[in-house]
Amino acid sequence: MTYDPVSLSQELIRCPSITPEEGGALVLLEKVLRNLGFECHRLDYGDVSNLYAKIGTGSPHFCFAGHTDVVPLGDASAWTHDPFSGQISEGKLWGRGTADMKCAIAAFVVAVERFLSQNAFQGSLSFLITGDEEKDAIHGTVKVLEWLKNRNDFPDACLIGEPTSQVQICDMIKIGRRGSVTGKLTCHGKQGHIAYPAFMDNPIPRLLKTLQVLLENPIDAGSDYFEPSRLEITSIDVGNKASNIIPNKVTAYFGVRINDLQTGEKIQTWIEDVCRETAGHHDLEITCHGDAFLTQDQDLIKLVSLAVQNVTGRVPELSTSGATTDGRFITHHCPVVECGLKEATMHQIDEHVEVGDIEILTAIYERILGQFFRQM
Ligand SMILES: [Zn+2]
Repeated sequence: MTYDPVSLSQELIRCPSITPEEGGALVLLEKVLRNLGFECHRLDYGDVSNLYAKIGTGSPHFCFAGHTDVVPLGDASAWTHDPFSGQISEGKLWGRGTADMKCAIAAFVVAVERFLSQNAFQGSLSFLITGDEEKDAIHGTVKVLEWLKNRNDFPDACLIGEPTSQVQICDMIKIGRRGSVTGKLTCHGKQGHIAYPAFMDNPIPRLLKTLQVLLENPIDAGSDYFEPSRLEITSIDVGNKASNIIPNKVTAYFGVRINDLQTGEKIQTWIEDVCRETAGHHDLEITCHGDAFLTQDQDLIKLVSLAVQNVTGRVPELSTSGATTDGRFITHHCPVVECGLKEATMHQIDEHVEVGDIEILTAIYERILGQFFRQM
């Protein structure tokens, strides 16, 4: 069986796996990997399906991690190409999940097939594919890692196929990611007629003052590989339709992207302190989604950089920018580097990738495998 990375990408795109739906994507992947000789385990938790597939029992163990779930379409009528047809036009493959990140999975599958056909392979190779990256990330990678712990089967290195490229394919790879904290602050007051403010307590000014304090000073100035940590307000809701009523409560939502100088706990304490000082009667809910991580293993970073350079002739930039990924869980068990297609259209209407980029990524992945197993 010889697979083609572009056709396999198209087949995966045709699986409507809007998170947390499996959509046929893991069934397809399991079939393909079994054909290549992998032992496959479907690991389903709650409403989420995951797949762990492994070939070989020797050392070292290299893992490719990714997800087949995709974000919703948004306004489906606004798409100029059917998001689940796997259509190719103008040299691009269109569809939900092309950039993030089914085509990278297809590229790695084919890279593995080519690598295995040309090498007397002694190590082990695995795929950790989740259907719960885009949603809560509770029943996906975290659960599979627990399962791997019981099997004593943690990999020695992990490559994640999330989109990382900017202008040209693999001009950037990610060697860490920022952490994330979200919060909900509700200030309570006393409702009443605006003509009698002496008897009321308007919670809006207190909320605005609190947010201003949170925003007025930078959290930090950034570190070697990270941008400054940053708080963004995402919504302020009063729900008051009347122009003559002081509302009894107002709620603000915010998100904080944190670098390696912060922890979720530090940020939580800071926000709690500010609210205690300025918010008056309030409720605060803070959720820490993970701290920042930075891969320390220079060998893996060099290996991936070199593979990119060998194929494209360019040295990739090492970055920690962008959204959080499941790398935040895997980093506790082995070094992680992320290398994938262009980020530009991910999560957008008319998400697409260059067909040529899928071929180049496949070649880069094949080189990474060659260099990893030769080096050890
Ligand atoms: Zn993704």
